[in-house]
Amino acid sequence: MQTIDRTAIVRDLQLAVGPGNCIFEPSDLRTYECDGLAGTRVRPAAVVLPSDTAQVAAAVRVARRHGMPIVPRGAGTGLSGGALPVEGCLLVVLSRMNRILEVDFENLRMRVQPGVINLDVTRAIAAEGYYYAPDPSSQSVCSIGGNIAENSGGAHCLKYGFTVNHVVAVTVVLADGEIFELGSPASDALGYDLVAAVVGSEGLVGIVTEAVVRILRTPELTRTFFATFPSTDEAGNCVSAIVAAGIVPAAVEMMDTLAIEAIVKATGVDWPLDVGAALLLDVDGTAAEVEHTAAAAVEIAKNAGALDVRMPKDAAERALMWKGRKSAFAAMGRISPNYYVQDGVIPRSEISRVLREIAELSAREGLRVANVFHAGDGNLHPLVLYDARVAGEEHRAEFVGGEILKICVRYGGSITGEHGVGTDKAIYMGEIFNDADLESMNYVRCAFDPTRVFNPGKVFPTPRLCGDIPGAYAPHASERHGLADRG
Ligand SMILES: Cc1cc2nc3c(=O)[nH]c(=O)nc-3n(C[C@H](O)[C@H](O)[C@H](O)COP(=O)(O)OP(=O)(O)OC[C@H]3O[C@@H](n4cnc5c(N)ncnc54)[C@H](O)[C@@H]3O)c2cc1C
Repeated sequence: MQTIDRTAIVRDLQLAVGPGNCIFEPSDLRTYECDGLAGTRVRPAAVVLPSDTAQVAAAVRVARRHGMPIVPRGAGTGLSGGALPVEGCLLVVLSRMNRILEVDFENLRMRVQPGVINLDVTRAIAAEGYYYAPDPSSQSVCSIGGNIAENSGGAHCLKYGFTVNHVVAVTVVLADGEIFELGSPASDALGYDLVAAVVGSEGLVGIVTEAVVRILRTPELTRTFFATFPSTDEAGNCVSAIVAAGIVPAAVEMMDTLAIEAIVKATGVDWPLDVGAALLLDVDGTAAEVEHTAAAAVEIAKNAGALDVRMPKDAAERALMWKGRKSAFAAMGRISPNYYVQDGVIPRSEISRVLREIAELSAREGLRVANVFHAGDGNLHPLVLYDARVAGEEHRAEFVGGEILKICVRYGGSITGEHGVGTDKAIYMGEIFNDADLESMNYVRCAFDPTRVFNPGKVFPTPRLCGDIPGAYAPHASERHGLADRG
């Protein structure tokens, strides 16, 4: 292990990014101790807030020289502990790299820095009739860099695809400070699609310092409707029936009774409380197409047992409906002192069965679970409600969260739909992948970052170095020579 020379680190980082872009004071560093997974906290050794790619590269070189692990961070809204600092790390915060660099309407492309807030991409082009499709519920606060690292989804990803479908090129700073351009603003770049290897890599392969994203024309018309059902069974079957009829709604979101109660209390929407589930749907496209498909979808909802189907009377009411849905996580505060957000994915056809199993689990463990999720993608977000003041409840909530993931896997799904693995879910990777799978993934990571300097200890269930063979622990050659250690 290298000895830490704090004075030299401070000097070198200040030279790399400028003194005004560095944080070393323990009280100031506290701001960066966690991301959205607020229960786990680690104070970074230092924080830098670079303003361009060259500064990121310079900071990475300093960290390497001083043997510091590096953790990238965007807006810190991640829910799986991806931006959680690791002991002694340099936290590279991209929030000051928030400029839109170029808009190319003709080719439907936009070049942005990673700290640009998701919604600001759309705001910058909305007046011209364009938008950026991936819309996480956190879109007013999360960054494009974080979206890329997590391959974020959102309500409208059912029709338009996840972040990976909307990023065509990236600039990445690698572990030795080299600046690497991947992909191309033109369609179908030659060679392996390494942009797709970076999207969803959870900050483990390098730091994204620029991205070219795809923008779309705002659809001519969007019809929204809100339908209530006696239970999540009918609502789940309705989603499957709509898709089976060949309709691809722009969004289909489901909320169960508890979620509706919290949303009503928090936002003032006038949704009924005596229902078992509700769906919020958007159908978009050309006016003629939308009128036809919206009418067909409403008919299917009625046939599936909808109690009531409402259309917003104007844009303000539609915005309020969507505000209700997008505020759902925060709204849990109205019905519970604490909650644990889970994120799993299942085949759409299994929604009703899986929700029933979750309800049984919730009854067995004595903890309420609210469900609000991207039903069209089968991407569940069970919110396990608990009271941290009651001894042991927090651990029970985590246990219930883990059991929910196992249910998802049992039904042919996965341990994360969009929030990532990070720190939180690394222990569940073995539910899906065997040692050989993990080893293959590790080789991909090592092709970018052979010494595992970026985000060590995340995603992979047991720390591995390049060339490690799964099995009993044995020190790797680089450990024996003091070049690396396991976080
Ligand atoms: C209320 C709420 C609702 C949410 N709803 C959704 C949703 O609907 N869909 C969804 O997908 N997510 C959702 N999220 C989760 C979160 O907002 C997303 O994961 C988002 O993409 C994180 O962006 P961020 O800028 O906050 O990234 P951070 O939390 O700062 O970082 C996330 C990960 O990205 C890495 N990273 C960040 N920037 C870079 C970079 N420039 N280069 C390399 N790695 C980087 C970090 O190391 C970390 O691993 C929600 C979160 C909250 C709090």
